[in-house]
Amino acid sequence: MYNLKHVLVLLSMMFFISTPPSGRNGELKNYQCTKCGTLMQSTSRPSTLGCRSGGSHQWNELGPIGNENYQCTKCKLHVESHQRPSTLGCTSGGSHQWNDLGRIGTDTYQCQKCGLTICSAERPSTLGCNSGSHQWNKLNR
Ligand SMILES: [Zn+2]
Ligand SMILES: [Zn+2]
Ligand SMILES: [Zn+2]
Repeated sequence: MYNLKHVLVLLSMMFFISTPPSGRNGELKNYQCTKCGTLMQSTSRPSTLGCRSGGSHQWNELGPIGNENYQCTKCKLHVESHQRPSTLGCTSGGSHQWNDLGRIGTDTYQCQKCGLTICSAERPSTLGCNSGSHQWNKLNR
């Protein structure tokens, strides 16, 4: 006869081994704290501990990451997103106004006016710079 305690230990070990770590196959999403503006890529809502603005982070889910460069013309946040990100929680107040800068690629471009650096497949859109339009310089040759 097996001792009941041993059977329970064995069962819990089997359960532990057959359960994959949570979020292993989860999809990476963009999260931004609406208080301090930190952007994170995570499969689940990040820890709320340690917001630079004091207290706890308030994470806003912007949507799955993907192959398109988006920038908010108000708060200047740049995200790599699968689709137009959520408009909730712009750190400049109200809602984000997303501008599609184009598809992500192997060329690195930097705007000589605002300093934004992105990886793009072609010369990115000039819309949405701090003052007028982005002036893109290709950094790799
Ligand atoms: Zn925060
Ligand atoms: Zn914004
Ligand atoms: Zn710019």
